[in-house]
Amino acid sequence: MKKLVLVLGDQLKADSSAFNHFDAAKDEVIMIESEFEANYVWTHKAKIALFLSAMRHFAEVLKKKKYALTYVKQSKLSIVSVLKEHIQKHHFTHLVCVEPGEWRLRKELQDLASELQIYLTIEPDNHFYCDFDEFKEWVGDKKEIRLEYFYRYLRKKHKVLIQEDGEPEGGQWNFDEQNRKPYPKKGPGQITEPKWFTPDAISKEVMTYVESTYSKHPGELESFAWAVTREQALLALSHFIEYRLPLFGAHQDAMWTNTPFGWHSILSTSLNLKLIDPKEVVDSAIQAYEKKQVSLSAVEGFVRQILGWREFIRGMYYLDMPKMAEDNFYQHQRKLPDWYWTANTKMACMKDAIQQTLKYGYAHHIQRLMVTGNVALLAELLPQQVCEWYLAIYVDALEWVELPNTAGMALFANGGRFTSKPYVASGAYIKRMSNYCESCSYQSSKRYGPDACPMTTLYWNFLINHRAEFEKNPRTRLMTANLQKIDAEEQLLITQHAQTLLNNLENI
Ligand code: FAD
Repeated sequence: MKKLVLVLGDQLKADSSAFNHFDAAKDEVIMIESEFEANYVWTHKAKIALFLSAMRHFAEVLKKKKYALTYVKQSKLSIVSVLKEHIQKHHFTHLVCVEPGEWRLRKELQDLASELQIYLTIEPDNHFYCDFDEFKEWVGDKKEIRLEYFYRYLRKKHKVLIQEDGEPEGGQWNFDEQNRKPYPKKGPGQITEPKWFTPDAISKEVMTYVESTYSKHPGELESFAWAVTREQALLALSHFIEYRLPLFGAHQDAMWTNTPFGWHSILSTSLNLKLIDPKEVVDSAIQAYEKKQVSLSAVEGFVRQILGWREFIRGMYYLDMPKMAEDNFYQHQRKLPDWYWTANTKMACMKDAIQQTLKYGYAHHIQRLMVTGNVALLAELLPQQVCEWYLAIYVDALEWVELPNTAGMALFANGGRFTSKPYVASGAYIKRMSNYCESCSYQSSKRYGPDACPMTTLYWNFLINHRAEFEKNPRTRLMTANLQKIDAEEQLLITQHAQTLLNNLENI
């Protein structure tokens, strides 16, 4: 049987399960650069460059192993069309790959295999702690699917920060009170820079190609310095653990102008391309804790993101696709304003988050959830357009992680399938967690009128429109209690001003 292993651009792992039964003497590997993949959403230049550079570097790893590799450069065709030609030309009878990070591609590979009448093996991805069958079993017939319980289950199972008596390290599962503080009033102070990498010859060649082929795509490449090899990813990891993890938790949710990365790890690209495994990342953080280099609250806050959120989100994606991509709980239909692509908005928080996104292809979690995501929900934007933007614009965006975060968490498009409430907030939240409001032409505390913060007006408008739903939910009841303190006349002014904003979204 002539076997072909397909290595996708986000599966750059030498010990990937795709190679479980690989016989280097007779089996072959294929990697495909497809312009179609870079064009089906309007992808940020840095994201295209990152994927292509990391793929070309990984091809060198496979060549060193003496694997028979076909590397298809810059094809105009889709991945599946290239594969089809290659399989037919070389008479392969068996195609092997790891679970693709996109439901669409899985379906296309299955269709191709049945069309060509070849065997298709989709191996579970050994990069993750939890495979899909295990996740499905954990979900079982639970009425409420919540991260917290899944996270505890995985911590116990993998004995991560678990004491000998089976209780969580330090006697509690969650250290949110110590974490998630704003920066001090004077600002974040000296933050150690993340580890960056000067582009080498391979990256430079890719960047030149991206600039010419995708010149009209959003974003820029001037600051391109992402890890593109496993060696670089490991250096970025150890740098983070030593210099940045100690303050990660405390200021996880904080935002400040000209502070695009805060104390965050900037490891999502290396993790999502599979240059490093979550187990390596978690183990390094635990070792630092055991050596007393970081506090329990910092290490728990970080482990929760990787062992908790990342695994949970992935499980939800496979559980709920393809429906997840169609969901629109609030039936929002408004068009994504152009300034999501240009940062040309008067809202200082949005401007800053989008500007840094265009520059680096990066914004941290709270910027994605409580700034760009919050505004998208309050402005009643069509979830599918918002999801396309997130998929296009972030260097770490793969559908399995982008879609549940955007549709499920930020937009509540699935009606709270795995979250307990919609994440909505007014300008007061931004004022508390950042310095953005100081330089903004809008007033975060004003609920209506020309200089009222659009986030604030639209927040109260959202509560007025969804009052009954918010009152029923114990997690949001306090919000409606605050709404009751606003008299009917002012509520009318708020809804009228909100309507003006909603009809003029391009100009806010
Ligand atoms: P850190 O804050 O340092 O966190 C450490 C790691 O934990 C991250 O590298 C990431 O792998 C993982 N992690 C943290 N939060 C999440 C989460 N909610 N879901 C999954 N993993 C998480 N993450 C992506 O990797 N790709 C995406 O396309 C993506 N889209 C998002 C869209 C929205 C609307 C929101 C709210 C979040 C999204 N996230 C996405 C999750 C999170 O914002 C990013 O993982 C994080 O900002 C990456 O930066 P970091 O590596 O510095 O993360």
